[in-house]
Amino acid sequence: MNSGKILVVEDESKIAEIVKAYLVKEGFSITVAETGQQAISVLKNGFDLIILDLMLPDIDGEDICVMIRKNSDIPIIMLTAKSEEADRIKGLGLGADDYVVKPFSPRELVARVKALLRRSGGTSETAGFNKGDLVIDPLRYEVSKNGTQVVLTPTEFKLLQCLSSHPGQVFTRLQLVNVILGYDFEGYDRTIDAHIKNIRHKIEDNQRDPSYIKTVYGVGYKFTGLPDAD
Ligand code: CA
Repeated sequence: MNSGKILVVEDESKIAEIVKAYLVKEGFSITVAETGQQAISVLKNGFDLIILDLMLPDIDGEDICVMIRKNSDIPIIMLTAKSEEADRIKGLGLGADDYVVKPFSPRELVARVKALLRRSGGTSETAGFNKGDLVIDPLRYEVSKNGTQVVLTPTEFKLLQCLSSHPGQVFTRLQLVNVILGYDFEGYDRTIDAHIKNIRHKIEDNQRDPSYIKTVYGVGYKFTGLPDAD
């Protein structure tokens, strides 16, 4: 059985009920918020994961996501009826860790919840990185740049941890999808680019000419610990 507190922010009560039923069956304890205001007022109760609908009657899910990310790295899965890839990538750009497009299978959502909780619960790889201005401490789950702590989402940390513990090794987007989801999911690989962009924004001095995470055109990404090595 699983344990953990999950906040479901969804104004369509039918969907909220189904999601709740499936997650309760898995052992999770669920709080449902039907509006953005409700979600914000219960957030302080502390949750392990948030399922966030984008289209709410009062506040946009996007805005709530941005608000949460200002002071929390809690795992967020967005529910979206927008099927356009650009919208999905925008959601990830706002700091969501994953998204599920409506209509979705509750089983798929449960699988995503479990995968996200697994990867936010820590990392099996313990190799750290400490060179120059970047320090990655997998045991403390911390990253700092020039001595200042950098806040990464669990997904971003997992990706950075994977790349940095294999310096020089090229990872394809699909391999990286496997790293963060625990399984191959074609169609998701483009979103890796959005995550990498977020990580670069946080750790690179020059995002157009990154020192750490290099793009290997037509293949994927690799980590290099030596600035200007390529
Ligand atoms: Ca809605």
